[in-house]
Amino acid sequence: MTLKSIQTAAMQLPSQERSQLAAALLSSLESDNASELETMWVEEAEGAVLAPEAVVTTVLKVCENCGQTIGKLETPNVWKEHIVCAACYKKLA
Ligand SMILES: [Zn+2]
Repeated sequence: MTLKSIQTAAMQLPSQERSQLAAALLSSLESDNASELETMWVEEAEGAVLAPEAVVTTVLKVCENCGQTIGKLETPNVWKEHIVCAACYKKLA
C-alpha cells in the first residue's frame, strides 16, 4: 500500500466520505502534535527542575566575610564552613 494508491483510492470516494476521511486524518495529526507538545513540555519541566543547580554552578561566589566576589578562576577558601576570599582567609586564619 503506497501513498499514491491510497490517494487514488481516496479520490474515488464520494465527497461526503472523502470529507470524513479528511477529518479522520486531521484529527490523527492533531493527536500526534498533542503528544509532541506534551513531550516538549515534560522536557522543559525537567529542565526547569535541573535549572537551579545549573545556576548555582555558574553564579559567582561571594566572600562571606567582606562580600567581595570570588572570581571564577579563584578557588574559594573555606574557613569554618564559610566561603571567603583569599585575603580574608589569610586574615581570619
Ligand atoms: Zn573577603
